Amino acid sequence: SRRFEEAQYQSQDPVTDGLRERQSKIQLQRDLGELGDYEFLLEYQPQVDPVTGQVTGVEALVRAESSDGRLLSPAQFLPQLERGGVLKTLDLWVAEEACRQADEWADRGYTFPVSINISAEGLSSPEVIDTLTNLLTECHGRVAVEITEDSLSASPETVRHHIERIRELDVQVHIDDFGTGFSALGYLSQYPIDVIKVDRSFVNALETDKGSKVFNGILSFAEALELGVIVEGVETEQQLAYVLNTDRVSVQGWLYSRSLRAEQIPAFVDQHAERALPATASA
Ligand code: C2E
Ligand code: MG
Ligand code: MG
Ligand code: MG
Repeated sequence: SRRFEEAQYQSQDPVTDGLRERQSKIQLQRDLGELGDYEFLLEYQPQVDPVTGQVTGVEALVRAESSDGRLLSPAQFLPQLERGGVLKTLDLWVAEEACRQADEWADRGYTFPVSINISAEGLSSPEVIDTLTNLLTECHGRVAVEITEDSLSASPETVRHHIERIRELDVQVHIDDFGTGFSALGYLSQYPIDVIKVDRSFVNALETDKGSKVFNGILSFAEALELGVIVEGVETEQQLAYVLNTDRVSVQGWLYSRSLRAEQIPAFVDQHAERALPATASA
C-alpha cells in the first residue's frame, strides 16, 4: 500500500541516498504508487526578450508521462508528492536533469539559463541545499533557481542563508508568482534576489485601468531595486503591448510558446534569433 511504501521511503534517507546513487527518479517512481507506470520528464518554456526576439532563458517544467503517452501536469501529481514529503526529491531530480540538459545545449552553442522550481520544502532543507549546490557547481551556473514568496516565510533565517549559498555560486534566484504570496514588499526587498517573475494574474488584469496601474507599480518596484523582470502568462498581442513600454523585461507565455520538449528548443532559439536579425544588421 502507499503508506507502507512511504514508510520504507522515509527510512532510507531519500535525499542523500537517492542522489548519491542517482536513483532519485526510481525512488520517485515508486513513491507515486498507482502512478508508478509514469515517467518523469522535463519540458522547457522559452523566455523571450520581446524587443530583440532573443531567448533569454527557459523554465524547466515537470510532467509525468504514461507508457501509452498520456501526460499529467504538475497540478495532477505535485500535491500527492507534497503530502508524501518527497517534493524535495523531485526538486533534486529536476536540478540534475536540467543541469545535464543545460550542458548538452551549451555543448552545441546554445547558452542561456535554465530555470528550475525549488519547493518550499526543498528550500528549507539543509540536505537539499548541500546536494543542490553541489549539482549547480557542476553545471557552471547555467541554471537559475525559482522560489515562491511564501517559501521565504517558513523559516526566514535558514532560507536567507540557503539563498545566499545558492547566489555565491553565481546562480540567479528568481521570485516566482510574484505578488501572489503573503510577503510584504519591504520584507521581500531585504532578500538577496535577482529577478521577479510577475504572476499571470496581473497580466490578466491589464485590461482594467486599476490592473494596468498595479502592473506599472510592480515594474517600478523592480526598477527601483534593480531587479530583472520576467512577465508570466502573456497570451495576447494586447498584453505584450504593455510590456513593450518597459526596458529589460522578458516574457514567458503562450503568445511566444508553450513548454516544449528539449529537442525542440534549439530550433525555437534559431527562429527567434533570425527574427531579430534586421534590427541588428541596421545598427
Ligand atoms: P510556475 O512555476 O509559475 O510555472 C508557470 C506555469 O504557467 C506553467 O504551468 C506554465 O505551463 C504555465 N503558463 C506559462 N505560460 C502561460 C500562459 O501564457 N497562459 C497560461 N494559462 N499558463 C501559462 P505548469 O507547467 O502546469 O506548472 C504549474 C506549476 O507547477 C508551476 O508554476 C510550478 O509552481 C509547479 N512546477 C512545475 N514544474 C515543477 C518542478 O519541476 N518542481 C516543482 N517543485 N514545482 C514545479
Ligand atoms: Mg516557476
Ligand atoms: Mg511562475
Ligand atoms: Mg505561476
